[in-house]
Amino acid sequence: MYWSKVSHAEITAQVETALEGNLSYKTEKILGVPASYLDEEQFYDDAPFLENSPFLKTLIANPNHIGCHTLGEEAEPFFKGTQKIEKDLIDLCAEEILAGDKGMQDGYVAPGGTEANIQAIWIYRNYFIKEFKAKPEEIAVVSSQDSHYSMPKGANILNIESIALNVDGATRMIVQEDLETKMTSAQHKGIKYFVLVMNMSTTMFGSVDDIVRVTDYFEANKLNYKTHVDGAFGGFIYPFTNDESSYAFKNQRITSFTLDGHKMLQSPYGTGVFIIRKGFMDYALTEEASYVQGKDYTICGSRSGANAVALWMILKTHGSDGLKVKMRNLTEKATNLCLRLKKMGVSYYHNPYINIVTIRAKHLTPQLAQKYALVPDVHNTEPNWYKIVVMDHVKQGVLDSFLNELMSETDVRQYVN
Ligand SMILES: *Cc1c(COP(=O)(O)O)cnc(C)c1O
Repeated sequence: MYWSKVSHAEITAQVETALEGNLSYKTEKILGVPASYLDEEQFYDDAPFLENSPFLKTLIANPNHIGCHTLGEEAEPFFKGTQKIEKDLIDLCAEEILAGDKGMQDGYVAPGGTEANIQAIWIYRNYFIKEFKAKPEEIAVVSSQDSHYSMPKGANILNIESIALNVDGATRMIVQEDLETKMTSAQHKGIKYFVLVMNMSTTMFGSVDDIVRVTDYFEANKLNYKTHVDGAFGGFIYPFTNDESSYAFKNQRITSFTLDGHKMLQSPYGTGVFIIRKGFMDYALTEEASYVQGKDYTICGSRSGANAVALWMILKTHGSDGLKVKMRNLTEKATNLCLRLKKMGVSYYHNPYINIVTIRAKHLTPQLAQKYALVPDVHNTEPNWYKIVVMDHVKQGVLDSFLNELMSETDVRQYVN
């Protein structure tokens, strides 16, 4: 993985050039588009701070990135300048972060991880229907019980089955016997096609599924399956912290990835990333999108080009080395937190390559959890876990005061017991 760090001036100049490559609602004759620059009363474009803010400038110019811009087809010509930035961004994520071969992946900036996951499930459902004449009731999404709810949501929207695999209570790894039992029973029920979703970090635990073991089972049993990786949480951290990661396109068993800029990269909301091997976007082609030049391949339709620009700017401003340092600092901080918890006899879950520490709820009062805005695993019943996510704003001082309060709570409890 390597790309160099680029100066703010250079980034500004490149976005400027990209905007010049777009048609401008201000200066050109555009009669047929149901869109314009942002409302001028509220978003006046002569505000002095815009000069140094390529993102806000793009936001106000309001380019539409509808469609998929990595396919090399004639996309909407109006915004080809910033759409090229989106293509460069997808290539960078696919080739540098996920070690894909040059020019061998497609993708787009989705509204978020939810859509990117559902986009993957949609593509594979259509693939099984088109290539194997599968019926919807013969297709299932398979993922762990710790997976994000976008998997059952996607299965529901797409009218296919959803199978949740049990995980071990302590390791959060998929239980092999449960995998075998549920897959056998699914096949007895007539399910023949599987959309396997593996987590490159779950939201609650930061656990990373054992992809080799799980896909070995699918291979050994000659099951018809496609693997999508949900990296909405971990996609912009795990590849930077784990040099031995098997979550990359060099793993031939993986076909697609979700990454989410608006989590670890601190980009604005609306910066999910969907990436898939070439040859698969076509299963999501909506032929009827006849007014969109280049057609549509996405769930969402119109979307702001400023989001792609924001992600691209963030990746370029740090460079790969900068992000490695940043992400490793966060995981290191999480590891130090764990050492302190361990000393106090508090049990927790932590994946050393991820910045989440999930504490057994029995160790703290709901009041303390609330005071520090820890997130519970469930809201309507008694929680089993509370998590701390060591993000950029989580300063050591706040962690220290939390630990001190936890320590005095623990002392009181020991005294009472
Ligand atoms: C956050 C998250 C999602 C959903 O992403 P949104 O951007 O909120 O739609 C999906 N999967 C995982 C693992 C996540 O952490």
